[in-house]
Amino acid sequence: MAATWSQLTGLHDDLDVELTEIDHALSRIEAGTYGLCSNCGKPIGVARLRARPYAELCIDCARALEAH
Ligand SMILES: [Zn+2]
Repeated sequence: MAATWSQLTGLHDDLDVELTEIDHALSRIEAGTYGLCSNCGKPIGVARLRARPYAELCIDCARALEAH
């Protein structure tokens, strides 16, 4: 039972993160900045947005951050 509960709460956490990302994406659509990197301001790119519609960073900035 405990294992099932932790699986459920884990699922809930994932869902929460996803909802937050959707919320951010919607704010950026309203602000007119959707599809632009929040770090460098360059277009994120259609291919990346297709793979990850809520991406806030372009591939270059995402890679640079991951490298740290
Ligand atoms: Zn960038």
